[in-house]
Amino acid sequence: MILKLGMPLNIFELESKSFLLDETDCLELRLPLPETDGLLRQLPVAVTCVHGPGLGISRPQREQECKEVEQVILFAAEYGIPMVNIHAGITYRNRECRAETLSWLVNSLRRLGAAAAEKNVVLAIENLFKYDCWVTASREEAEKSGWIYPLTAEDMLELIEMVSPVPLAVTYDIGHSLFVRREPWNEIEKLAQHITNIHAHDNDGKSDHLPIDTAGDRFKKIIRCLCRIGYDAPVILEVNKQLSSPLAEIRKLRELEQMKVPH
Ligand SMILES: [Zn+2]
Repeated sequence: MILKLGMPLNIFELESKSFLLDETDCLELRLPLPETDGLLRQLPVAVTCVHGPGLGISRPQREQECKEVEQVILFAAEYGIPMVNIHAGITYRNRECRAETLSWLVNSLRRLGAAAAEKNVVLAIENLFKYDCWVTASREEAEKSGWIYPLTAEDMLELIEMVSPVPLAVTYDIGHSLFVRREPWNEIEKLAQHITNIHAHDNDGKSDHLPIDTAGDRFKKIIRCLCRIGYDAPVILEVNKQLSSPLAEIRKLRELEQMKVPH
C-alpha cells in the first residue's frame, strides 16, 4: 500500500508556493475559496477536499453558517472536488443545553449531508478536541465540563447513526484524538468503514499540530494500522508551519512507510 500524502493550502499559499506540490499526492484546499478558477484548473495534483467552516451549525445563528457550507459544497461540485470536510460539533455548558444543541447539530447535518449527496460530494465531519462554542462562558469551564462533542470514535459513530439515512463520512484527526487520550490505532479500526480523510499531526496533550513523532513514537503503528484496514484515501499533514515544513513532514511519513515494519 502506498499512502496518498498531501498538505493543506489556501489559495494565497498556492499562488506563492505551488512548488511545494512537487512531492505531494493530493491537496486539501482551505478557505477562503478562490475567486477565479485559473490556478485550480492547472494544478499538478488532485484537490481531494475543501475544508469548510462548521462549528456554527449547532448555534442559534446557524442559518448563516449552513449557507456558507452549502456554498463550499457547490464550489466542490463545480470543480470536481470529491469531498468537503467540516468541524461540526458542540460544546455545552450544562445538561439543559445538550438536547437542544444536539438537535440543531443533527438537523443541520441532515440538511448539509443531503445537499452534498445531491451533488455527489462526500460530506466528512472531523472529531473535535477543544472549546469553541456560544454556550460556554469560558474555555476553562468547557474543558472542565468535558462535554465537547464529538470527541471519540464512539461519539462519531453515534452522530453518524443519528444523521442516518443521510450519509456522513469521517475526517479522522490523529492529533485531536491524541489530545483526548485516545489511541489512534484503536479509533481508526472502529471508524474504518467511515474514514475518507485523515489529518496527521502529533499532540503532546498541551500543544496541537506538532510535527510527526515529536510527542512519542506512534506513527509507525498508525501506518501499520492504515495498511491493515486497506486505507487508500488522503492523509493530510496538518502540522504547524512555524514548526516544520509540510514537505519535511510528508518525507517523514514516506520514510516510515518504506521501513515496512512487520505487522
Ligand atoms: Zn484537522
